Amino acid sequence: MTAVNAYAAQNATTPLTPFNFNRRDVGPHDVQIEILYCGVCHSDIHQVKNEWNNAIYPMVPGHEIVGRVIKTGNHVTRFKEGDLAGVGCFVDSCRECPSCKAGDEQYCEEGMTGTYNAYERDGKTPTYGGYSTQIVVDENYVLHVSEKLPLEAVAPLLCAGITTYSPLRYAGVGKGHKVAVLGLGGLGHMAVKFASSFGAEVTMLSGSKSKEADAKKLGANHFVLTSNKEELDKFQNHFDFIIDTVSALHDYNLYLNLLKTNGKLLIVGAPPEPVPVSAFALLMKRKSIMGSLIGGIRETQEMLDYCAEHNIVSDVEVIDASYINEAYERMLKGDVKYRFVIDIASLRN
Ligand code: NAP
Ligand code: ZN
Ligand code: ZN
Repeated sequence: MTAVNAYAAQNATTPLTPFNFNRRDVGPHDVQIEILYCGVCHSDIHQVKNEWNNAIYPMVPGHEIVGRVIKTGNHVTRFKEGDLAGVGCFVDSCRECPSCKAGDEQYCEEGMTGTYNAYERDGKTPTYGGYSTQIVVDENYVLHVSEKLPLEAVAPLLCAGITTYSPLRYAGVGKGHKVAVLGLGGLGHMAVKFASSFGAEVTMLSGSKSKEADAKKLGANHFVLTSNKEELDKFQNHFDFIIDTVSALHDYNLYLNLLKTNGKLLIVGAPPEPVPVSAFALLMKRKSIMGSLIGGIRETQEMLDYCAEHNIVSDVEVIDASYINEAYERMLKGDVKYRFVIDIASLRN
């Protein structure tokens, strides 16, 4: 066992504080990773605050992990000591069900094993995430990371990146499509980068006027302030796809109206409350709503390789672990440009 330093939530209401625990010994199929950077996802906040009603405490959040392999088990073939490695939102799955066999481990019929706030397949050993100095993961759930890109800016690709890449790819977004991105935070800024890189005409729909110039720099062709209803109305029957990354409840019908016939609303934002949707908002123009959860291991690797090839990374603000509670407060105000990433060196003694 290896003792590691971490930051953890002890309950839903008090700030995260320093925490120590042990990582398991490296098994035959495991790689041990010294974590260098870990991104801060809004899902960390939902879970720390028990907004999804599934919290297990103490909780060490973090599922946008990059680092270097420091040890490998006897049977490991895909990694060696010194390799860069990434870990995303899950660290195991049943490996047998149709979803696992199809490479969609995130949809495992027995449930994926979350990187944190979950139990290992034994049903009793809690998993702890990337706000920590090391992690031990089965090699089949570890990604290869390019040496070409700035590592701190690669970390958010492991969740914000794949969560937006996967539905845009599944929907076949490309040249000739008009795509809107709703919400300019961690997921939103990656959605703008990918949709634009895939050749679509991209419109940013944001509640923050101050983000207009950034949206254009990220690749958006147009910017619409969502509080300006007159301006929004001009975009009725306009978009082929809207990717909704908003973390809080909002009016989904308003945005369904902006889709053209056969248009699709791709939901990735995960507010805890149920969403009221009008049947008419869908049936009048054969519109549909699709949800999407992160992406499987194979597609996550494809996305990382695509980013290395096309020089796509996240725009990050690097912080020390001790800043995490302020970072959460700022994210709740929409004040993030566009992903906080913890420099894990700040957790080492
Ligand atoms: P984030 O960085 O905090 O960004 C969320 C953005 O949503 C904000 O910057 C803001 O953008 C907008 N927003 C926030 N509150 C709003 C409100 N009350 N009304 C309208 N807009 C609001 O969050 P994130 O890390 O990108 O995560 C976004 C959501 O996706 C979270 O719910 C998270 O849990 C979920 N998520 C889902 C998956 C998945 O697999 N499906 C994976 C990761 C995260 P503007 O300032 O531009 O309005
Ligand atoms: Zn996430
Ligand atoms: Zn499975």
